[in-house]
Amino acid sequence: MTGKPFNAFAMAQQQFDRVAELLGLDTATRDLLRWPMREYKFNLPIRLDDGSVKVFRGFRVQHNDARGPGKGGIRFHPRETIDTVRALSMWMTWKCAVADIPLGGSKGGVVCDPHNLSPREQERLCRAWVRQVARDVGPWQDVPAPDVMTNAQHMLWMLDEFETIHGGRYPGFITGKPVGMGGSLGRTEATGYGLVFTLREAFKEMGLRADQASASVQGFGNVAQYAIELFQQLGGRVISVSCWDQADQTAYCYRRKDGVDLSFLRGITDRFGGIDRKKAAAAGYEVTVGDAWIEQDVDVLIPAALEHSVREDNVGKISKRVRVVAEGANGPTTPEADHVLNERKIFVIPDFLANAGGVSCSYLEQVQSNMNYYWKKDEVLGRLDATMTTAFLSVLDVSRRRKLPMRDSAYVVAVSRVAEACRDRGWV
Ligand code: NAD
Repeated sequence: MTGKPFNAFAMAQQQFDRVAELLGLDTATRDLLRWPMREYKFNLPIRLDDGSVKVFRGFRVQHNDARGPGKGGIRFHPRETIDTVRALSMWMTWKCAVADIPLGGSKGGVVCDPHNLSPREQERLCRAWVRQVARDVGPWQDVPAPDVMTNAQHMLWMLDEFETIHGGRYPGFITGKPVGMGGSLGRTEATGYGLVFTLREAFKEMGLRADQASASVQGFGNVAQYAIELFQQLGGRVISVSCWDQADQTAYCYRRKDGVDLSFLRGITDRFGGIDRKKAAAAGYEVTVGDAWIEQDVDVLIPAALEHSVREDNVGKISKRVRVVAEGANGPTTPEADHVLNERKIFVIPDFLANAGGVSCSYLEQVQSNMNYYWKKDEVLGRLDATMTTAFLSVLDVSRRRKLPMRDSAYVVAVSRVAEACRDRGWV
């Protein structure tokens, strides 16, 4: 990522300060919500397959649990920092509140690159992470989930370690588990599909038609792939995707103007969302190094990679045709770039609304796990659609009534709910 030095937590606080002013929050509530309630930082000494020991750094941050147990994913990423985890935990609080699910906000991470770790080493890392936080997380305290570079297998190892420590079966401890082992049907699709449910509602509001629309997507991981899947099912055309190339340490954009072939690209993509460049080029994809995804002449941009991808230095490259930015990633747009999007009257579906499908479905998984009774996929996706549509319409309503951009409106809805819960509990 380029541009000026970026600190995700400073950005999350800047966004919060703006809404605190809008809502006229009192000082105690601001002080409470501006920082996480609790933070755990620890070393994870791991025995590698060659017999040596490597020490990794791990985190769990619990931002706010006034509305219910904390909820949030665990990232495995070489550039993970405590500030990124803090920001993500804060965004989780707003995400659960805007979706109106009875959960708070948490996030976790390990500074590591799973590309360079064997499955057994990753298992040891998962188990070690749980051993560090086992007393401070759990179905009624704080419920982890997968995120960037973690998956259902990691969750199952973590569940197994938690259950070994506590002596029992606690499937509600963690979500994103494999189906058949406490996981919910629909969870894999949930974030990408949820994004498209909100995009569908935005299109209705703007009088646009999905079957006449085109999109460019940053990323080709879990969120991106399922967003593309549902957008294409609605008749939309995705003309480019992009991904990070680990060997070259740069991003590449893959473009096909008639629309990308999702199943072909999936077939040449590794489990980290990295596309095989040679095979894509051989199949006729135009491959460009860098940020070309943002310059495409399309109706919709979907940043679905990492934070800090729409910035001051590249927001000017967005084509005049773009009408909607639907943020799949957390924190993709800097406040400066957001200002430009607002000036240009581009309709932004902000991150913690657009990507709330993941946590909403995780909540449904947790409910099923706690009951030990599992629903059919259609039932799960129907409930997810209802949650996402209601959330979108409640934000749109504030946006219309208060004449605010969608991001500010989403913040107004979410922060008011959390502040009210804190007040009702007598915390402030
Ligand atoms: P993932 O690891 O499955 O995929 C990430 C993708 O982004 C990969 O294709 C990777 O190559 C690509 N990428 C990374 N850096 C890039 C760059 N600079 N340019 C272009 N592509 C780049 O992760 P994911 O689960 O799809 O998550 C993506 C984003 O969505 C993250 O911000 C995550 O926090 C957020 N999110 C995920 C979920 C979920 O349920 N998975 C839920 C809510 C939010």
